[in-house]
Amino acid sequence: MGKKPEKKKLRPDRIAVRERAPEERVKDFREVPLGYTVNQAKDEAGRCLNCKNRPCKSGCPVGIDCGGFVAKVHEGDFLGAVKLVKEKNLLPAVTGRVCPQVEQCEGPCVIGKKGASVGIGNLERFVADWERAHGVVLPDKAPPTGMSVGIVGSGPSGLTVAADMIQLGHGVTIYEALHEPGGVLVYGIPEFRLPKTIVAEQIASLTQLGVEIKVNQIIGRTLTVDDLLHMHNAVFLGVGAGAPVFMGIRGENLIGVYSANEFLTRSNLMRAYKFPEWDTPMRFGKRIAVIGGGNVAMDAARTALRLGATDVSVIYRRSREEMPSRAEEIRHGEEEGLRFDFLKAPTSIIGDEKGFVVGIQLVDMRLTEPDASGRRRPVPIEGSEHRRDVDTVIVAIGQRPNPMIASTTPGLEVDKRGYLVVDEETMGTTREGVYAGGDIVGWGASVIRAMGDGRKAAKAIHNYFTLTS
Ligand code: FAD
Ligand code: SF4
Repeated sequence: MGKKPEKKKLRPDRIAVRERAPEERVKDFREVPLGYTVNQAKDEAGRCLNCKNRPCKSGCPVGIDCGGFVAKVHEGDFLGAVKLVKEKNLLPAVTGRVCPQVEQCEGPCVIGKKGASVGIGNLERFVADWERAHGVVLPDKAPPTGMSVGIVGSGPSGLTVAADMIQLGHGVTIYEALHEPGGVLVYGIPEFRLPKTIVAEQIASLTQLGVEIKVNQIIGRTLTVDDLLHMHNAVFLGVGAGAPVFMGIRGENLIGVYSANEFLTRSNLMRAYKFPEWDTPMRFGKRIAVIGGGNVAMDAARTALRLGATDVSVIYRRSREEMPSRAEEIRHGEEEGLRFDFLKAPTSIIGDEKGFVVGIQLVDMRLTEPDASGRRRPVPIEGSEHRRDVDTVIVAIGQRPNPMIASTTPGLEVDKRGYLVVDEETMGTTREGVYAGGDIVGWGASVIRAMGDGRKAAKAIHNYFTLTS
């Protein structure tokens, strides 16, 4: 009888990724985590059990073979690892940094039941950065087909459609409203989480492949979707959902109240953080209240700290456990000196006689017992209202679709919240030849979801071209 294979010993602790010290990083906008070294990456990958059924793969929204690429990292075959990741995900340097891995691929990891799951996100970042350092290999392109697609919006969904369609030999033109392509990756997520050079490199590899990018093109104004349908054989709408949502309370029109979108766009896209080198002054005070508990709230709060605010509190109406932000960002924010006010909600914003913010009125909240969906509702505690002195309020409670495209495109159906109605399989809208994906279809906002939609849409548009040519 052969010898039984030796059972792999479980190592419960994850190899911590190197990070810049909080007191140093809070003074600038450079990236916080430094990533794994080669040896750290191999060691961390060595914790993987190489499970037969690989639950990590089904936890990933685009089905990356996580266990497979992790095994290649352990063997030192980094090129093989990056190739395997890129079969499903074209922006691993982005997703390795910003995906909510804890709830996705790392969530079902078998090791996670006994200790920390394998650091799949950190390993994805490692292989992507290894490729960036060793030269990105451009994919092959099929011969020209004579068909073309017009893509509206250059966020992750639009970039994914562009990458897939250009490789299939189709012409691709991206129309972007802003002066710089990249969508939220450029105007929303700050440099200290996602360096802009990474997004720029990705976009450069698309233009090298032949993708044309036209900036300052507001579709619905500069051109309409119908104009694009005359110029191209199909259109993809990846316009995101960037219109801000406010709370509807007294005082939201005071000077010193920002939507997180405006605050982050001024800082990131318009480089206010590089003032006076960049001519974008930004007026805000030292005591800041950020309302919300998601990634957007955390990005705004940590940006405010870096811009010189001395007292930044994140006000969230539920408790820490319910915060939708990535756990790592909460930890980083805490280390950097953010104050967290859980179970509190604003009831009004207070101004002085000149219309400037001087305070915020808050009420304490409690959570109800879980309802049928398991969610605990926050309800105000009577008589608990109190005032907090602040000079700036940043509202980060969500975003909604901008109605411009739908209102200028006859036959394009939207749901009652204003999101485009699409077929789940093909991402086709109610207009023939018009497809959509990402935040504008309202299925939850994440980079990898937007990319997954882009993948599905590109496949369907290619099939549509095959049928109509
Ligand atoms: P977007 O990235 O929104 O891009 C849409 C593009 O379309 C924009 O460039 C816009 O200018 C352009 N556009 C809009 N209208 C028009 C028009 N009429 N004509 C031409 N162009 C137009 N997700 C994560 O997974 N992890 C995170 O850590 C994370 N952090 C986030 C932090 C912030 C501050 C924000 C705002 C979002 C964050 N998200 C995160 C969510 C994620 O970024 C989005 O889900 C994702 O970017 C959506 O991609 P998209 O392609 O749908 O559109
Ligand atoms: Fe490795 Fe965890 Fe995936 Fe199993 S679930 S293959 S241990 S990463």
